[in-house]
Amino acid sequence: MKKELRKVVIAGNWKMNMTPSQAKEAVKATAELTAGKNGCDVVLCVPFVDIAVAAEAACGTNVKIGAQNVHFEEKGAFTGEVSTSMLKEAGAEYVIIGHSERRQYFGETDETVNKRTKAALAAGLKVILCLGEVLEERQAGITAEIVSMQTKLDLAGISAEDLKNIIIAYEPVWAIGTGLTATPDQAEEVCAIIRNVVAGLYDTAAAEGLTIQYGGSMNDANAAELLSKVNVDGGLIGGASLVPEKFAKIVDAAQA
Ligand code: PEP
Repeated sequence: MKKELRKVVIAGNWKMNMTPSQAKEAVKATAELTAGKNGCDVVLCVPFVDIAVAAEAACGTNVKIGAQNVHFEEKGAFTGEVSTSMLKEAGAEYVIIGHSERRQYFGETDETVNKRTKAALAAGLKVILCLGEVLEERQAGITAEIVSMQTKLDLAGISAEDLKNIIIAYEPVWAIGTGLTATPDQAEEVCAIIRNVVAGLYDTAAAEGLTIQYGGSMNDANAAELLSKVNVDGGLIGGASLVPEKFAKIVDAAQA
């Protein structure tokens, strides 16, 4: 497997943080601190109400803006939901789908992840598809089975052409927002498992071209080692993405 075949992507997930005025400042600061760092793509996935202002602040910089979820229907009686065309018109280029917080707290399933992913791809959005095991599954020794099953179900019916617009984020749920990070070897092992499953579903070329991020308490201190692993092609970063200086250091670590 050749790492140089893949795009490295460092993406921030702001979760439910930042008002529009705070978002404007944080995007500007991130853009200034990461200017000219072309060794990776830089994405900030912001709350829905921040997308337009964030996209405006990012215009002409190397920062791309993403959302944190999207509905699979185009319009209608889905109170509280947001469609792909709304995201696009507001300025989003990326969307996170299947984050473990959506799966844990909002009833997201592999079936709805798959539907949302298909809708986002059809609309021309790039998808950051999150999956990963919970602590009990890791302790039971079934991490490989869980991530393999999620990969198969979440990608069901998606063409090899559309796969080019998907990034998979391997996010062990026990490492998200907990300060516990997977070791570089653990991250590498599971990212490699996911890549093998993708090779089986599509082919080797598709798998070798797929960006697979690690997410789970990645920060400026541990990023370089995690990113040095051959199957880890970037990071999805929660907490540390809220502080532009910390996030920029992770972008720096991805320049190698
Ligand atoms: C995330 O929200 O996807 C995440 C990995 O969060 P944190 O970096 O805070 O663990």
